[in-house]
Amino acid sequence: MRLNIFIRIFLIIASILLIVPNLAGASPASADSSISSWQIKWESEADRLAAPDQALKADGWQDIQASEPAVSKPEYAVSAWIRIKLPEIGMKQGVFFRSIYAQNITAFLGGEEVFRSERKYWFDLNRVLIPLENHDSGQELVLHLKSQTDRLGLGRGINISDYQDLLRSYAKFDLFDIILGSAFVFVAFVMLVCSVFFDRNQLKSWLALCFIILPIGGILIGYSPFLYTFYGEYGFLYQGMFDLSLYVFLPSLMMFFEQLFGSGYRGIVKHFRRFQIAYSIFGIIALTVNWASGYALQQYYFFVSVTCIGIIMLAQFILILIILVRQLWNRNIDSIILSIGLAVFAAVSVAELLTFYASSKTYDLSWWKWGLVAFVLSLIVLLGRRISYQHKLIITYSRDLEIYNSEMQRSEKMEIISQLAASVAHEVRNPLQVTRGLLQLLERRHDIASNTESYYKLAIDELDRASTIITDFLTFAKPELEQVDELDLADEFKHVEGIIVPLANLQGGHLEMSVPRSLRIIGNSSKLKQALINIIKNSIEALEGSGVVKIWAYEESEQVVIHIADSGAGMDERILERLGEPYFTNKTKGTGLGLMVTFRIIEVMQGTIKFKSQKGVGTEAMIRFPAARYVETNAKVSI
Ligand code: ADP
Ligand code: MG
Repeated sequence: MRLNIFIRIFLIIASILLIVPNLAGASPASADSSISSWQIKWESEADRLAAPDQALKADGWQDIQASEPAVSKPEYAVSAWIRIKLPEIGMKQGVFFRSIYAQNITAFLGGEEVFRSERKYWFDLNRVLIPLENHDSGQELVLHLKSQTDRLGLGRGINISDYQDLLRSYAKFDLFDIILGSAFVFVAFVMLVCSVFFDRNQLKSWLALCFIILPIGGILIGYSPFLYTFYGEYGFLYQGMFDLSLYVFLPSLMMFFEQLFGSGYRGIVKHFRRFQIAYSIFGIIALTVNWASGYALQQYYFFVSVTCIGIIMLAQFILILIILVRQLWNRNIDSIILSIGLAVFAAVSVAELLTFYASSKTYDLSWWKWGLVAFVLSLIVLLGRRISYQHKLIITYSRDLEIYNSEMQRSEKMEIISQLAASVAHEVRNPLQVTRGLLQLLERRHDIASNTESYYKLAIDELDRASTIITDFLTFAKPELEQVDELDLADEFKHVEGIIVPLANLQGGHLEMSVPRSLRIIGNSSKLKQALINIIKNSIEALEGSGVVKIWAYEESEQVVIHIADSGAGMDERILERLGEPYFTNKTKGTGLGLMVTFRIIEVMQGTIKFKSQKGVGTEAMIRFPAARYVETNAKVSI
């Protein structure tokens, strides 16, 4: 069953991984020709040139091969000129630069400006398409690049092809990031909406996961060159969104982790998470201040949002790794799932980063997104497992509780039976002894014929009485199926009386009962008797030798009401409040379970019970049940 789920998840992931890269990797239309070399001239602050013709005449040009493009700028350089010799150009063609690393770009053709893009924010990757005509053949395309970041220059992939073809693939090129990012954001929103259905316990992990998925969407969108290329004027917004997403993502990840595996050694996970929240707040403030100052503090902000975050992320991943390894050691399935997700993410990211640095930063990172998807999937699987585990736990608890309840009722009943047995035995012995005496008399005085009849009658009556007591006792004591019937209270009380009167006789005090016929309720006869006997027995015990227990019943506004009042010791407020609490007793031989069981039985029969009592005066219990004829038929079956 479980294996089945894993296989299914694996198939889904596999199909996504197979299908989507074909979409994502959609490269520009097959190139008619590509540019294989160009020249670059670095400029320092001192020798900056204003116009392309000046630059072309100056010396210091350096040859670059497209197979090994260099994009790290020398220490002194602030900007650079690039010249590209165009090959033979056909009608309506264009040149597509897959990656130009710079904040500001100006392109010139034959001394004329043909393209310009300026960014205030620090996002230095550009995709640029410039239209060409056949009279441009053999001309020199001159680019002027400027950037405050440490990258400056052209990356791989410069193609000349049909302008319309290029335009189409150019538009599609990074669209996939946006789709993937938006999908994450959408899922997070749906999850947020669903969070209303969770209780507080589950809500924390659920929300943490929402706030992991939502910023991942933000990171994907904020990192994609698509928006910067087509809607560059809002670049600062995308960058803000990227940073903000990172500030939310990191603490949320830690929070989710904490929910799953606990606070770790000496609460280190908790402390780290708190530190991250504080740092994120600081980062968000720094972001706002940098914005407000018009990027005047960019150097410092870079340190806060890139350098420091990088170190924090590193520490976080090491921490997560250590805890995961420990959990793996204990063979925790959750940690195995999470480790797989993380391992995929880490492996893909490390492989890509290595390629990135090996290519001297000209490689476009793209596979890490799939690592991220694998990671998020593992988180979702984990949360699902957790919720289903909690659900199972609740079911087990409630089943245990049910078993415990019925055990309790049974044991309380056994207790009453054993206590009643003494009084029943006593009571049964009496009539038997009387009968025996009478029979002896009969034997001796065979001659007094006139009295014989009444002696016989008495003997028979007493024997009948003994048999009723025994019958009542047995019906109460015998285990019974949980059968629900329509009960006549008068019948039930008659049996109860049969059992309880012997106890009253033994302990002193007497019973006055007035229960009319035809008061009908729905329930289990044996359980109802158990509940009533508990209450009456308490009353008799409270009499402490002398007094009365009065029992009366009537029907009132669709309910059958039973009163059981005694003139016994009574209770004060403190005791009244604790009635029904398990093991609460004031008697040396008490169990403290009687009223608990009673309350439970009455509750199941949809009734209510209230106690009124005054110390030294007495106690009155008032029980209400819905009258049988007002109970719906389907409810009758289920009680
Ligand atoms: P038990 O009878 O074994 O003590 P119960 O749950 O039946 O357990 O009752 C709990 C306590 O409530 C009794 O010990 C007693 O102090 C108090 N109590 C219950 N009914 C009465 C009553 N009718 N009069 C005085 N005290 C009562
Ligand atoms: Mg009791």
